[in-house]
Amino acid sequence: MKLHIGLDDTDSPEGGCTTYIASLLAERLLQFGAEFLDYPTLLRLNPNTPWKTRGNAAVCLRVELDEASVSKARKETLGLVTRYGEFECENTNPGVVFHVGEVPRDVTVFSGRVVREIVDKVDAEALIRDHGMDSVTWKNGRGIIGALAAIGGTLDSDHTFELITYRAPENWSTKRRVDPDSVRRMNEALADSTYNNVDKRGRPLITPHGPDPVLYGVRGESPGAVYHAFNMIEELEPVARWMIYRSNQGTDAHYSDPVSVGSVKAFNPAVVEGWVESQPKVLRGGHVIFSISDESGVVDCAAYEPTGRFRETVKALVPGDRVRVGAGVRQMDEGLTLNLERLDVLELVEVSRLVNPRCPECGGSTESMGRDQGFRCKKCGFRGDSLMKVAVKVPRMLDVGVYLPDRGAHRHLTKPLERYGREKVFVSGPLHVPWIG
Ligand SMILES: [Zn+2]
Repeated sequence: MKLHIGLDDTDSPEGGCTTYIASLLAERLLQFGAEFLDYPTLLRLNPNTPWKTRGNAAVCLRVELDEASVSKARKETLGLVTRYGEFECENTNPGVVFHVGEVPRDVTVFSGRVVREIVDKVDAEALIRDHGMDSVTWKNGRGIIGALAAIGGTLDSDHTFELITYRAPENWSTKRRVDPDSVRRMNEALADSTYNNVDKRGRPLITPHGPDPVLYGVRGESPGAVYHAFNMIEELEPVARWMIYRSNQGTDAHYSDPVSVGSVKAFNPAVVEGWVESQPKVLRGGHVIFSISDESGVVDCAAYEPTGRFRETVKALVPGDRVRVGAGVRQMDEGLTLNLERLDVLELVEVSRLVNPRCPECGGSTESMGRDQGFRCKKCGFRGDSLMKVAVKVPRMLDVGVYLPDRGAHRHLTKPLERYGREKVFVSGPLHVPWIG
């Protein structure tokens, strides 16, 4: 029978990783004779959830298993969550959902909502009940929202792959050791099929910084590409295990259609189109703030310091420019602020400034003779009482186009520029050999 196991919210800022538990579980399921129907799903959920633990990732394993092994799989899952879950963290509230059969349509719709909005636990509970699913929760049980979303996350449209390697437990709290030159070589060789390997200075972005068991993750367009990358990267410490996931990372899946300024909601990602209302200004710490407006209102936008050179683009905006922003919506004391994750410059206004006129006699430069007194030529002395300042166009230091923060500041869900045009649909087929090790 077809079994889907959804897992969420087992990690904490101090450690753990839901994907690590998933990789252990996958190995056990293979030992039970399970046949994997797809790569494990790595579903990134709404990145603006206030109670998220770290990357807000949920996982689903989808297997064909004989009936006798289903209860063994269940027991194994609960055992691994109990053993590796970070239960002491207040914000860690694990949930596991088991579903037998095809993925119901309404669960897929629910999954889309969990990626794009804040969703209440009762909505998950109702679906679990309606479809007779089996769920297990720990503490406040919020994890069943993501666990169910992972089951529904069938990723039929655009998707990417990530090969994640895990460290040996004795190394978990030490500095990660991966040869950076090998990462740069891999990045050059596989630029067309992987993404976000290095920052603009060539420093690897594939290794996380926390105490979790992940050594590194390579993201790309196909299982073959991330496996090729894995073979090129030289680890300077043992890789205890690895697994390839299919994911909504790098697909902008968290964005819905554009909404009006007035209907932006706290904690939801939003895409908003409007006109730049105020001149961007730089705050202490290097953050850049400006506001945009449409018929329904005005809202602040912020490009924070970690977004790097993206702020130079933002600073070049002027009132009247037409933009579309992709953002996380933050609730600040002063009201809502759009935390910019993407900027589409749609139209630029002409900017001009007033300068002294040229002399009509000799073309020389002029100086003012006083307010409303006209201008006098500095070269030939010509006096023009009715001469006035003239407007000249100022070149804009910005082009129409899509702009993103520096790579290191990307959300997991942010679609990087090199992925534009690489969007794909899912066609099921045999899994890459090998996909786990
Ligand atoms: Zn003159």
